[in-house]
Amino acid sequence: MVRRTGGARDQGIYLDYHATTPCDPRVIDVVKQVSESVVGNPSSPHRFGGQARDVIDDARETVADHIGATPGQIVFTSGATECNNIVLRGFKYSDLGGTGRGDNIVISEIEHKSVVKPARSLEDDLEVRTCPVTKDGVVNIQKLEDMVDERTLIISIQAANNEIGTIQPISEVATIAKSYGAKFHCDAAQALGRMEIDVEKWGVDFLSLSAHKAYGPKGIGALYIRGGPDNQPVDAIVLGGGQEMGIRSGTLNVPAIAGFAEACRLIRDCLHNEVRTLRQLRDEFEKEICSRVGEVDIIGNGTRRLPSTTNMWFDQVEAQAIMSRLPNIGISSGSACESGAIEPSHVLRAIGLSRDSAYQCLRVAVGRFTTEQEVAIAADRIVEEVAAVRRLTVGSG
Ligand code: PMP
Repeated sequence: MVRRTGGARDQGIYLDYHATTPCDPRVIDVVKQVSESVVGNPSSPHRFGGQARDVIDDARETVADHIGATPGQIVFTSGATECNNIVLRGFKYSDLGGTGRGDNIVISEIEHKSVVKPARSLEDDLEVRTCPVTKDGVVNIQKLEDMVDERTLIISIQAANNEIGTIQPISEVATIAKSYGAKFHCDAAQALGRMEIDVEKWGVDFLSLSAHKAYGPKGIGALYIRGGPDNQPVDAIVLGGGQEMGIRSGTLNVPAIAGFAEACRLIRDCLHNEVRTLRQLRDEFEKEICSRVGEVDIIGNGTRRLPSTTNMWFDQVEAQAIMSRLPNIGISSGSACESGAIEPSHVLRAIGLSRDSAYQCLRVAVGRFTTEQEVAIAADRIVEEVAAVRRLTVGSG
């Protein structure tokens, strides 16, 4: 039995596991132990440095092994945002452009902002093509095939979506990328800990990971680079001491990296069972809501989704209204990075929802520490508040 995270339990019911996961207590133990006992900088030549290097080497091997890679292909970063920026902004476009090889990149309509914004920043020099998704939130492979050509340099498509949980056809994207000689970058931030990741089976050239989506510490992640940095056309975007094979300068966060590795070990041991439990909890939650509330729709229900995600549309009910009535339940109206923004979620708009409908979607995500009781309470409270908001809407109408 896993120890519950006291902080989360005391503060209410946490159901926002796609924004971030609580750090697993076993990870916290490792972070604490390394913080206390490993004092050196891994770049230092003395024995203290050597001790820190040993921790990093061990962690690199664990993280690499977890995704079917080798240690020389793993660059530690601050998280998936940084990984995505390194790939999209560090890519040596001009070298390849100079050979006449390419002038466009392709992303999907439902990428995270940390892919969309770096991609858009390149628009003065490159054409950025955006591949549409189906109404269920899956990349339209036929459209992708039509959009990619011999001049495509990178295709960047996520493994699973952070707002609606849809799993993308990764191997098919890889096949298309390969057949046109384009590199394939996959943002797997939401996949870690929720599905198996195998860079060989997936056929990716770059893969972004973030520890805090999988019960690891916040502010640490890893970028997989096929063949290692020397064999891919990507440059550092942060310059300095040349750590991480020159791709990511800066003193390594040794305790967080050790914690990240521990998070990967835990996933390895429990993924199969955890996925089953999450799916049961999520399905039970959806069943409860759908049997007690009218005019509700589960987004992406018709397709392969992460086992943890529910994104529900409630007619006439703004998600913000539910959230503000339920301050002790951690739920979300879109991706956390967009909460507070006035614009509705670009993901929900991309799958065809109107502006109004997009505001009426609530994301609920279960995780390792969620209990059946919490799901039952959250379902009850959401059902009550949806009814209350609807009464008010009808009353005021
Ligand atoms: N990509 C996806 C799909 C995400 O869900 C997130 C986090 N919301 C990120 C990238 C950014 O990850 P990080 O917080 O590690 O920078």
